[in-house]
Amino acid sequence: MPAPVELKGQTASAGLALGLVFFLPEPVAQDRVAGSPSTEAAALRGAIAASVASITGLIEGHKGEAADILEFQVAMLEDDTLLQPALDRVNSGSPAQTAWREVLDTEIAGYAASPEDYFRARASDLMDMRDRVLMNLAGAAAKPKIPGGAIILATDVPPSRFLELDWSQGGGLVLAHGSTASHVAMLARARGVPMLVGVAGADVPGGHSEAILEASSGRLCLSPSAADKEIYEASRQAAQASHRNDQAYATKPAVTRDGIAVEILVNVAEPSDLDRIAVNTCDGIGLMRSEFLFRDGAPLPDEDQQFTAYCRLLEWAQGRPVTVRTLDIGGDKPVQGLTAPGESNPFLGLRGVRLTLVRRDVFKAQLRALARAAVHGQLKIMLPMVSVPEEIAESARLLDDVMADLAAAGVPARRPALGIMVEVPAVAIVPELFAPAAFFSIGSNDLTQYVMAAARDLAAIGRLYQPGNPAMLALIRNTVRAAGAMGRPVSLCGDMAGDERYIGALLAAGLRSLSVAPAALGHVKAVIAGLTIGAEHTNQGGETL
Ligand code: PEP
Ligand code: MG
Repeated sequence: MPAPVELKGQTASAGLALGLVFFLPEPVAQDRVAGSPSTEAAALRGAIAASVASITGLIEGHKGEAADILEFQVAMLEDDTLLQPALDRVNSGSPAQTAWREVLDTEIAGYAASPEDYFRARASDLMDMRDRVLMNLAGAAAKPKIPGGAIILATDVPPSRFLELDWSQGGGLVLAHGSTASHVAMLARARGVPMLVGVAGADVPGGHSEAILEASSGRLCLSPSAADKEIYEASRQAAQASHRNDQAYATKPAVTRDGIAVEILVNVAEPSDLDRIAVNTCDGIGLMRSEFLFRDGAPLPDEDQQFTAYCRLLEWAQGRPVTVRTLDIGGDKPVQGLTAPGESNPFLGLRGVRLTLVRRDVFKAQLRALARAAVHGQLKIMLPMVSVPEEIAESARLLDDVMADLAAAGVPARRPALGIMVEVPAVAIVPELFAPAAFFSIGSNDLTQYVMAAARDLAAIGRLYQPGNPAMLALIRNTVRAAGAMGRPVSLCGDMAGDERYIGALLAAGLRSLSVAPAALGHVKAVIAGLTIGAEHTNQGGETL
């Protein structure tokens, strides 16, 4: 067994794990060993044939539009327009995967830039075909079998890949790249999966079979010694005791030492998250990130599938408020067929409400599902990435249209309150201009990246990504003040709400409602119970507030 090796990184999600090491390859293996041009040409033809066979198999189970899409893919794969330029590249010495990717990427860019909706929509089919052929080229390596409870090491993983992994038996995630504010980090915190980012060397297999992950202290120990394991066991028991203490607060209302009550809501990504949350540990759902119903590479959920998902949230909430955020895709949450490939800066691009106001078909289907579900509980709709008041007005008009259509068709529906995320500085600086919003929820994750000009998914500038920066706190105070003056409820649903370093400052800024990751519910309430808001306070992390 190799000697113990210790690697350091940034804590993306606290926690401890001891388990087998698993190196997660990129979903599309780029490191496939290339052969001679004739071997590569044969490999490419074989991968295309395998892709045609699997898509043809899929067509048998589908009708209508789904079958049309699949038939389009088969026709394209069987056509020489794509194959021939790829073979030309192979003959000039390119590996099959590089040749195929280059040809398809050029084609995709052409489709994506088309002014015609039809061709733009076809770009996602081409991406699907590109990846299917690349997967077939990579062979079995692309679909690894991961042992339960493993500590997974990778360069980076997108949110959809994280959700595909089975975390039910524990384990943890260690990324060589990544960032503590990425959506994967957020998902890991929500599920209590320990996670580190920015761990240099985490993507280099070194023959280690076991590891200890002490995410809270930013430490990964590969091939731990017997003494390391003893220390781990002691830490695990201490963490369990502290968890039990937090759990004692979980079912109680959150009240500060000087008697100030705080509403504690929960953030969820998809209905199955609710299986792990006791409803009496929170005051409702403050943020449902509906985009996680839309998996990259999977068919988009239709109105009925969404309706079922939203009803499930309302049923779980038993009359408590449920705030569903309309699709916030784009940025680091791409969805094939919806988001635009090739944006130079996706976080400043066509994401959130900007995108849904362009893709009105998708937006309307979601609004219809929400208005229908609203009959069954206290549902509210929240718009992400609002930058100008017109986006609220346009969305409200679409909601009116949807209500009129549903009424005309005799479908039971209710018009939910329409509120907004405050995550673009233009809103946080002059919230008064956004009075048409029925409520506000501060999205500190994005607000931080836009205020600090520091991308939330980049470990290299993680030091500048400061939710507790004085500029951030000034904007939070400003939003709370303006919301109060307008008589609008205001909450904060970014990750700083669940971070003990900032909770005191948020309450001092006047917030009385926080929405946090499920795994943080007990701890946040325990932290609040120890705070006195009337007094001066400092943050425990030492960062200037
Ligand atoms: C935020 O930006 O703070 C937020 C809650 O939204 P998301 O993290 O999904 O972008
Ligand atoms: Mg956001």
